[in-house]
Amino acid sequence: MKITTIGYWGAYPEVNEATSGYLLQSDDMNILIDCGSGVLSNMQNHIDLLELDAVILSHYHADHMADIYSLQYAIRILMDLKKREKPLYIYGYKKDKKFETLNYHHYTVACPIDENSAIKFGNLTCTFRENVHADPCFSIRVEKEDKAFVYTADTGWSDELIKFSHKADLLICEASLYNENYGIVSGHLTAGEAGKIAKMAEVRHLVLSHLPHFGEHEQLLKQAKENFNGKIELAQTSKTWDL
Ligand SMILES: [Zn+2]
Ligand SMILES: [Zn+2]
Repeated sequence: MKITTIGYWGAYPEVNEATSGYLLQSDDMNILIDCGSGVLSNMQNHIDLLELDAVILSHYHADHMADIYSLQYAIRILMDLKKREKPLYIYGYKKDKKFETLNYHHYTVACPIDENSAIKFGNLTCTFRENVHADPCFSIRVEKEDKAFVYTADTGWSDELIKFSHKADLLICEASLYNENYGIVSGHLTAGEAGKIAKMAEVRHLVLSHLPHFGEHEQLLKQAKENFNGKIELAQTSKTWDL
């Protein structure tokens, strides 16, 4: 499987960039994980919207789904023009009014996820674990044969997440805060905590995402490295990993 960073900013995108969005590709499946602000535009640097099969939303905060409604219009236009035949499947948490808005005529179809779901996309299997966050939010684990990738979306410290991320080949973990900001915002991790989760979960490779608009990001890297001595990097637009 191939994972491409479409956007990694927390809250709002910097110029020409995007908030959370990662493109997951395997064989002929193209799945977008989170659809934040700026993602719809940036994703088209990598795939044609005709080729997008599904979107998985970790939760309904705007920095993870702001572009979903424009994406619905795009699918509508492509289908009305007969360029695209299949609807777009949008996966999200059901116990929230926003779930219903993922249905859009026959153009997009809302599909529920919860902790018991194991969704198959070709030879990929996606499972979910609820995070510690202001509103329901899910970490997503994607497995293909002996490879595993975990995307945390937004979360505070969670022992469950350590188990859920166990031995992942790639962990894209939120690091919204510097260590010195610990406790100022609940439901988010410091870089040091992200490093600690990576170490305790024995992951191979850690990527810090959902980055803040203040301070020096290199400092996040340094703080995570104090707890984790595996491969580690900051998320970067258009960066791709092959597992
Ligand atoms: Zn959130
Ligand atoms: Zn967020």
